[in-house]
Amino acid sequence: MTDGALQLLFSDLLDTIDHKKKFQVTAVFYQTKSIRHTIQLKHKHIRIKIAHSFREAPEHIIKILGLILYSKLFRFKIDTQTRRTYRQYVDDTVLPNHITPARKPSKNYRAQGNYYNLDHIFDVINQFYFQSQLKKPFLGWSLHKSYTRLGFYAEDKNLLVISRIFDSPRVPGNVVEYMMYHEMLHIAMPSKTLNGRRRIHPPEFKKMDKAFPDYDEIQKWIKKNRIRL
Ligand SMILES: [Zn+2]
Repeated sequence: MTDGALQLLFSDLLDTIDHKKKFQVTAVFYQTKSIRHTIQLKHKHIRIKIAHSFREAPEHIIKILGLILYSKLFRFKIDTQTRRTYRQYVDDTVLPNHITPARKPSKNYRAQGNYYNLDHIFDVINQFYFQSQLKKPFLGWSLHKSYTRLGFYAEDKNLLVISRIFDSPRVPGNVVEYMMYHEMLHIAMPSKTLNGRRRIHPPEFKKMDKAFPDYDEIQKWIKKNRIRL
C-alpha cells in the first residue's frame, strides 16, 4: 500500500467516526525496527504513523488497525473478534517476517560449567528425543544463581540458558537433562496464540513435557531442593 492509499483509507475511516469533520488526518508509513504505530492529536490535526512492516498488509487489516488507533483517541470499544483478527495477522504474518537486529548474546555465557557441560547434554537430548533435528543455539549457564528463573530460551537471541544452581554434583543428571529438554521443547514448539492469548506452554507442549521419563519425581526433586542449591 502506498502512503497516498493509506492516507485516503484513514481519512475515509475517520469520516465514519468523526461525523462533524472536526479533525484532519495525516497518515504515513515510517521506518522502524519495531512494529509499533503512533497516533497523535495536535490542534485538530491527527497524525498517524504506521510501521513499514505493515505496508504489505491487506486493506481490511489496515482498516482494523485504523479502528484500533482511533479507538484510543476517541475512546470507543473494539470488539474482541476484531482485535483477535489483528493479533492473528501480526502473529502469523508480521512477526515471522520481522527481522530483529541480530544481537549477539553476552560473551560471558559458558556451556561448560563447573560440573555439567550443557553442550554435551544438548547433544544427548537432541539425539534421543529430537532425532538430532534441533539446531544448536548459544548455550550457557546463567551468569548468576537464579532460584526463580530456572531456565529460558530467548528466540531473538537464539540463546538457551539454564540456571547456575543446577551446575552442581548434588544435582542428579536427569534433573539437568530435564531442564535442557524443557527449554529445547521451546525451540521445537514456538509459542502460539490460542483464543487471542499467547500460550507459552500450550496443551501439546505440556503433554510432551510430561512425557520426559520420571517427570513427577524430577518436579518433586526440584521443588524440594532448589532453594538449597
Ligand atoms: Zn517453559
